[in-house]
Amino acid sequence: MLGLPGAGKGTQAALLAASLGVPHIATGNMFRQAVAAGSPLGQKVGALLAAGELVPDGLTVAVVGERLGQPDCASGFILDGFPRTLAQGEALDHLLLESGTPLQHALYLEIAEERAVARLAGRRTCTSCGATYHVQTDPPGPGGLCRRCGQPVATRPDDAPEVQRRRIDAYRRDTEPLLGFYRGQGHLLLVDADRPPAEITRDLTALLRAAPAGGLAG
Ligand code: AMP
Repeated sequence: MLGLPGAGKGTQAALLAASLGVPHIATGNMFRQAVAAGSPLGQKVGALLAAGELVPDGLTVAVVGERLGQPDCASGFILDGFPRTLAQGEALDHLLLESGTPLQHALYLEIAEERAVARLAGRRTCTSCGATYHVQTDPPGPGGLCRRCGQPVATRPDDAPEVQRRRIDAYRRDTEPLLGFYRGQGHLLLVDADRPPAEITRDLTALLRAAPAGGLAG
């Protein structure tokens, strides 16, 4: 799942993963949980997340590689927020080659930057499970609690405007080149992400049904 911060990757990845019955693997959530737990990984990545900078490729790929080796990933998964650099995209290809489960699709949620920024301004995130809400279009439950797990919902510190700017810059510099990478592989599927979530989910589901899995390489 590719797209600017605020494009709706988390929302769509969670819905698709649930409807396909596969895990939703969100590197940002994994890193935030590690920070909250104060684990060795959390201590390494905390300052980078707070600054809106990317975690180094080697560390990120190791975390994802470990996760993809778990049994619940055997029949597929949705990756959200990974890969985020060309080096990560290449490393993912290697991981998937080794496991004999080649990439099927790269889903690109296309949205104008000012629209994504507006969404981030209203975004609230569960401090425990990472579920996302929007103050106007999809508010959290009573008392500002997560409707999924009942824990408090808050503004992510890295959604603050100055950190947001750095995350968008990192996206433009490091992540956008992946669009050409996946287009070249024949894997890229594009949806207009500046629409209500349910419409986007409907289109993504239809695209996945219609597109031959595996692209040029498959
Ligand atoms: P996200 O929740 O996807 O917006 O990610 C939040 C933060 O986690 C990012 O701003 C990065 O600091 C870090 N992060 C998440 N995924 C990656 C990745 N694939 N590569 C490097 N850093 C990442």
